[in-house]
Amino acid sequence: MRLRPICILFAFLAIAVTTFAQDGGAEARTTAPPASLTFREVSIDPLGADPDTPWTVHTDTLDVHAEPSYDSPVVGTLSRDAAVVGAYCVIVETDEEWLRITGGETVGWAPRTGLHRVHPKNADAIAAHGNLPFGSEIVIRWWGIPIGYEADDLVSLPEGYAGGRDPEDYRLRREAAEHAVAMIDAAAEAGIEIYASSPYRSGTTQQGIYLRNVERRGLSQRFSAPPGHSEHQLGTTMDIAARSTGRFLTKDCPEHLWMQANGARFGFRQTYREDNIDATGYVEEPWHWRYMGVERTAPSGDATAN
Ligand SMILES: [Zn+2]
Repeated sequence: MRLRPICILFAFLAIAVTTFAQDGGAEARTTAPPASLTFREVSIDPLGADPDTPWTVHTDTLDVHAEPSYDSPVVGTLSRDAAVVGAYCVIVETDEEWLRITGGETVGWAPRTGLHRVHPKNADAIAAHGNLPFGSEIVIRWWGIPIGYEADDLVSLPEGYAGGRDPEDYRLRREAAEHAVAMIDAAAEAGIEIYASSPYRSGTTQQGIYLRNVERRGLSQRFSAPPGHSEHQLGTTMDIAARSTGRFLTKDCPEHLWMQANGARFGFRQTYREDNIDATGYVEEPWHWRYMGVERTAPSGDATAN
């Protein structure tokens, strides 16, 4: 059964529970409920949005469970693009993220892995400008951009700036690409050899990467961002590798130290850092640099120096 609006889901949950009871209550269960799970609700900064902005299903279907576990009975199924509102919870025992959906007396749980949420400011900016303005895009674990969003000014990085592989696969938005090239050139002049290892990714590419990671590592994985919630989709962000090793930058390696000292001059910022893990919902990534626009990355109080 495919359902779209949340109100229909609640109705279905109520019917399911009623039917279930009429069929014999607990004895009728074919799947034992998991041992009692506890959860903590995540307090998400609305960043100016309505906190009850709905989440949207990005998979073909998404089962709603009686408890926050795949082992618990399915009480409803949502279809792609269905909108749901609920409390974002982390399950203490499993470290998994589930959305707790309530309707009257009924509670259902949807795994976060099938959900994404667009921040209204992003939606408004896309409607007004087409391409999102540099630096003001809101992309964190709990707020993102439409999975279908793709800026129309993506260009391939010139040969030699993307690790010697097919430059068609190595795109950034034009302004970000120009600054990336200037930055990589400046680094080379200082004896620091770096290149863009992983720049733009489409929302659907990210979805494939994410769902494969979830399948391989489980619902609690934090290695890849859900679709619509990756800065790589902005076309402004790249994972930087060191030419000496062919690997992503590591914290305080010579290339990372150079980027920390000079990235801002070219408008780039390491957006996933030790000091903002709680705000972004992502782990520290010394290799991950996002173009914000030079005026946004200039030292505070010295905004015109660059
Ligand atoms: Zn990255």
